[in-house]
Amino acid sequence: MLYLNRITARASGPLPVSQYMQLCLSHPIEGYYMKQHTGDADVFGSKGDFTTSPEISQVFGELLCLWFLSIWRSPQGNIQYPKIRYVELGPGRGTLMSDFIRTLSMWPEPMEAFTSIHLVETSQTMRSRQGQALQTVLSNKRLDEGRNITPVWYDSIDDVPEAAEDEFTIVVANEFFDALPINILEERGFREIMVDTLSPTPAATLKSEPSFRFVVSREATPRSELLSRLSPRFSKLPNGSRIEIASSAWRIGRKLAELISSRGESMGGETRPFAPKGAALIIDYGDEHAFGSSFRAFKSHRLVDVFEDPGMCDLTANVDFALLKESMADIGISDNTATTHGSLMQSDFLTQMGLFLRLQTLMERQRDYTKRREIETAGYRLVNSADPRGMGKVFRVLGVTGGVEHDIAPWPFQKAIGSC
Ligand code: SAH
Repeated sequence: MLYLNRITARASGPLPVSQYMQLCLSHPIEGYYMKQHTGDADVFGSKGDFTTSPEISQVFGELLCLWFLSIWRSPQGNIQYPKIRYVELGPGRGTLMSDFIRTLSMWPEPMEAFTSIHLVETSQTMRSRQGQALQTVLSNKRLDEGRNITPVWYDSIDDVPEAAEDEFTIVVANEFFDALPINILEERGFREIMVDTLSPTPAATLKSEPSFRFVVSREATPRSELLSRLSPRFSKLPNGSRIEIASSAWRIGRKLAELISSRGESMGGETRPFAPKGAALIIDYGDEHAFGSSFRAFKSHRLVDVFEDPGMCDLTANVDFALLKESMADIGISDNTATTHGSLMQSDFLTQMGLFLRLQTLMERQRDYTKRREIETAGYRLVNSADPRGMGKVFRVLGVTGGVEHDIAPWPFQKAIGSC
């Protein structure tokens, strides 16, 4: 990656990991997500570098849609908010959104309520894939009939407008947060781990392909000081341990909660829950803590070194769901709040949402034996936690609803089945 090469050669010192990740994934010309990937060179799917849950089975998007509809229909929700808008962060090929809309269109009421689509996507290549996918689903289902549901794209969640008074906001983010740049700190006075070139002479570096290595900065910097204060948990880490911190995940998490936040109803000095004005599902690999060494690269479904072929591999790091929850706590925008639910393992979320019943229905409708088996295998892969290719255990689902906490968390996030 020549651009990265030049930058590092000319820079006064090593790069923060976040900058390396940003350049590799999102550089306008050489970034991994920005390139024209077609046919066999597609980044997703069996021939690409990685596969996501919606690409594996349509059931994923269908069950997510059912969850959102159950929140919208919760007492008075659909009366108070007769309009629904859909916001997705990093929609990839648009498969999840297509399955979502197809499911929504099975009921006249939510279909009637569906008014707008807002997509946060930095890659032009991905935007055009999403546009094509939407065109197909909207034309098939005649959802667009009589109304003009034109998607709007944004570079950042900050640009997504506030919802109208009568609008319910749905936010979906599947495998979005893991692609956000991280910084790595070492708890030895919170010194930052940086990316340096191996070749010491700028002239040699410019000619050859870049080779990189991690180095530890000599002392704490204003950035590392600031990052170490992002969560009170980070001050309790054992000496010498490393943590990966995605500060943009914190910022985006907070903005996401603001988008769906709503006010409670004040009654006799008490704030009582109202119907939520929006809801979100964040699905990703990770857990309820910070990770130290999850930063990794994928190429053709193979785990490779993060410095192998910059710009040609998917770079990813596990999501710290505890940090996301901290980012959403006490947002307090003119008394508006949001409540987090979970996180739950993806296998728990999907099975409780009725995955097996849905798979059975799809299989019964299919006469071809091989296709029936394919539906079954794909569905099980979403919840399998034993097989390394299975997504049940490593993926987690965080639910967020606007407003103050209700007595009972929305299904399937009840405490009894393991929400944190
Ligand atoms: N949600 C999809 C795709 C996940 S891949 C699925 O489940 O199949 C990550 C997606 O996020 C890609 O579309 C990529 O272009 C986009 N993306 C990555 N970093 C981004 C950023 N900082 N802002 C907006 N979109 C981003």
